[in-house]
Amino acid sequence: MPGFELFGEQERKEVNDVLDSGVLMRYGFDGMRNGHWKAKELEAELQNTLQSNHVQLVSSGTAAVSIALASAGVGAGDEVIMPTFTFVASFEAIMMLGAIPVLVDIDDTLGLAPEAVQAAITPKTKAVMVVQMCGSMAKMDALQNICKANNLLLIEDACQAIGGTYKNKPLGSIGDLGCFSFDFVKTITCGEGGAVVTNNKAYYTNADHYSDHGHDHVGNDRGAEGHPFLGYNFRISELHAAVGLAQVKRLPEFIEIQMKHFNIIKSELSKIPEVTFRTVPQGGEESYGFLSFFLPDLESATKVSEAFKQNGVDACFHYYNNNWHYIRKWEHLKNLKSLYPISKEVKDGLKYLQTKDFSQSDNYIARNISCLIKLSWTEEEVKIRAQKMAKIISEVLS
Ligand SMILES: *Cc1c(COP(=O)(O)O)cnc(C)c1O
Repeated sequence: MPGFELFGEQERKEVNDVLDSGVLMRYGFDGMRNGHWKAKELEAELQNTLQSNHVQLVSSGTAAVSIALASAGVGAGDEVIMPTFTFVASFEAIMMLGAIPVLVDIDDTLGLAPEAVQAAITPKTKAVMVVQMCGSMAKMDALQNICKANNLLLIEDACQAIGGTYKNKPLGSIGDLGCFSFDFVKTITCGEGGAVVTNNKAYYTNADHYSDHGHDHVGNDRGAEGHPFLGYNFRISELHAAVGLAQVKRLPEFIEIQMKHFNIIKSELSKIPEVTFRTVPQGGEESYGFLSFFLPDLESATKVSEAFKQNGVDACFHYYNNNWHYIRKWEHLKNLKSLYPISKEVKDGLKYLQTKDFSQSDNYIARNISCLIKLSWTEEEVKIRAQKMAKIISEVLS
């Protein structure tokens, strides 16, 4: 998945444009910048790639998720439904606003289970945050219907799924707002960076102002701009945007390589009857950034994961024991370790985490292994890797 694997001349040229002008900031300094507007150009490219009317670049994917929620008016005491399997950033982005993360089970897509979402709705629910994990997607039709019927926002975290589609729409462009990350290990990298994507003009305007101290960006004198509301600094720099601009132009090439590598490994593992694969909803097309498969039980998945590590099959994750991506090991969040006081309302709202049954999620994550699909492998390396993986799995299962 990582764009940093294929990195070179184009990235260097875009960064040098910025260094030559000396304007490292995305706003203002019109006279000095030699016509270079890398953040604006990247936003235009992303509008096209993501078939969305509006794109706001920001400083990270975590910022993007929090800004998306804030732009649609989610705040103190509101409940946001999110999956048990994601990245800690989902939880953090909700907490930053004083809102309450409500974790619910996933299904065989490795995304939000629609029935679990339905069951978690209360009068305080404002939004459903679907996370398109490991390059594929949740059951989007069912989730959209639930949101429509209950008047809830659908926020789509597509940080790991750029290049994937559902019914020909880019992942990240389906919800009311979509979020992307361009951190160092994502398919497209800026070093650090993120984006909020929407077709809603008001949400976009809010995101634009909120991510730059509430500046209204009217006219070209920053000192004279109005400040319609409170904002913070979640800006991206021109240097970061320049890297992303070179990378985004290569997205079709990256997806093609991922698909090729993915299919070689999948066809080899498909020969083993006990191995099954995550469900991709009908009409969905993965980004092929990961190959996610299931083994019969926790024991076999644990053994396969260990044997992969011992035999040099890197970049495969058994998330059951991972403390970044799955609720089971989020001790600091379950016990709400915070540097500063958290409101009583949020503390009370999170008490359910001590007792809620997530056995449905456990059942999938315990048996799942997800392998990163790298861009830099040669076809020969992928074939050898696929055979090695199949051999290890067969040995463990025999
Ligand atoms: C990477 C990631 C984020 C956060 O992005 P950063 O740019 O690292 O802040 C959020 N959600 C998911 C699913 C991610 O994989």
